[in-house]
Amino acid sequence: MTSTVAIDFETVIGLEVHVQLMTKSKMFCGCSTEYSGAEPNTHVCPVCMGMPGVLPVINERAIEYISMTGLALNCEIAGFSKFDRKNYPYPDLMKGYQISQYDLPICQNGWLDIQVPGEEPRRIGITRVHMEEDTARLLHRVDASTGEGYSLIDVNRSGTPLMEIVSEPDMRTPAEAREYLVRLRQILRYIGVSDANMEEGNFRCDANVSLRPFGADAFGTKVEVKNMNSFRAVHDALVFEQARQAEVLRSGGTIPQETRGWVDERSVTVSQRSKEEAHDYRYFPEPDLPPLRLSRDWVARVGAKLPELPAKRKERLLALGLSEDEAVTLTESRERAEYYDATHAALGDTPRAAKLAANWVLSEALRWSNVNAKDLDALPIGPGQLAELILMVEGKAITSQVAKDVFEAMAASGKGAQEIVDEQGLGAISGADELTGIVRRVIASNEKAVADYRAGKEASLKFLLGQVMRETKGRATPQVAQELIATELAE
Ligand SMILES: [Zn+2]
Repeated sequence: MTSTVAIDFETVIGLEVHVQLMTKSKMFCGCSTEYSGAEPNTHVCPVCMGMPGVLPVINERAIEYISMTGLALNCEIAGFSKFDRKNYPYPDLMKGYQISQYDLPICQNGWLDIQVPGEEPRRIGITRVHMEEDTARLLHRVDASTGEGYSLIDVNRSGTPLMEIVSEPDMRTPAEAREYLVRLRQILRYIGVSDANMEEGNFRCDANVSLRPFGADAFGTKVEVKNMNSFRAVHDALVFEQARQAEVLRSGGTIPQETRGWVDERSVTVSQRSKEEAHDYRYFPEPDLPPLRLSRDWVARVGAKLPELPAKRKERLLALGLSEDEAVTLTESRERAEYYDATHAALGDTPRAAKLAANWVLSEALRWSNVNAKDLDALPIGPGQLAELILMVEGKAITSQVAKDVFEAMAASGKGAQEIVDEQGLGAISGADELTGIVRRVIASNEKAVADYRAGKEASLKFLLGQVMRETKGRATPQVAQELIATELAE
């Protein structure tokens, strides 16, 4: 056995994800969260502006969304939790503190299963899911005449409900971290608590990364990496950080505990500040809010709102006889998965129906989805209509070649399959009387192919069939046409 320098260290990664919740109003006031594109400072009130003397009121829907998330991530939901003030001075923090949760979060001790393609499945621990509120936005400007910098503040975002999801340091590679984020985002979208769009900033990720010698139990000093605005950026920042730390450690140096920022244009992390300890924030219980008591009944009611989650759905599709790839692709989003299920149901509860529905959703429907950059809930062809089209092909009322055009026409017009077939005269031609004339014409005008076929070249039959299909604009039933060609040529 040889070992190389490259595998001296094991990488340890934990992720903290901040998610904006899709509630209609803010966390502690009635201001609307629909401020995207709005004039600055128009979705504000004394509460989210941090005026003295006003009192926060908890947004029940936000607590419900956090609990749903906890349940989807296999967490325990606390019957008793409380809110705490996290104090730090920064101009985007209107009150001078953030209402958060410190020692008693709503959700704890969960897990999320991930699998990097081609590798073993791994279970990543979820330490906690807790409630927070978002800050205002600072816009940094430079005065053109004096060259002096100044900042503007937009308070619209202040007080927007945030949820923080903290993982255990269970990931070992940048690819695992990326996969964790993909699966986490998928679940949040499935349960409908957030758009979870990283580019738009409603799904933000900070990473804690450290190295330790292989086989060691103790963790190395961790570095927190921020400013990553895409899954790719998270992956690349972790790759960079693992190489940087390894180099420092190999040359006998030590890693200071610090916060580093990812600079996308240069593909490097740079030191921002030494990392705060929890005591720097002087957490103390929020005196303006009572502790949160969630009854088991309430938690059960929230749990009943959860849809079938992606992992379960995938298992169910595999049991129907679909392949791993098919099941993964069909369950990518809840909209897609539900479209598939409804199409399958409309075709009947048979293994053949499961496969037929999969073939059509994975080809024509997904092509439409990709071209239009919309999910299948927006497809003008409902699952029942797609099933009707599929059954017409199965019943040989139309050929599969024509069916693709009918699908396009349905998507463009919203009309049903039968209506389009009737209007455009697209029904299959399977009668020998109707086809024989066309077959004879094709044979007469393709002497070379006919000679080749007679000389034993079987492939020429396919060529002639192709000509018949072209003549009939794909409407000839291929089996019938092929038999007719063979019969004619045998004479
Ligand atoms: Zn407000």
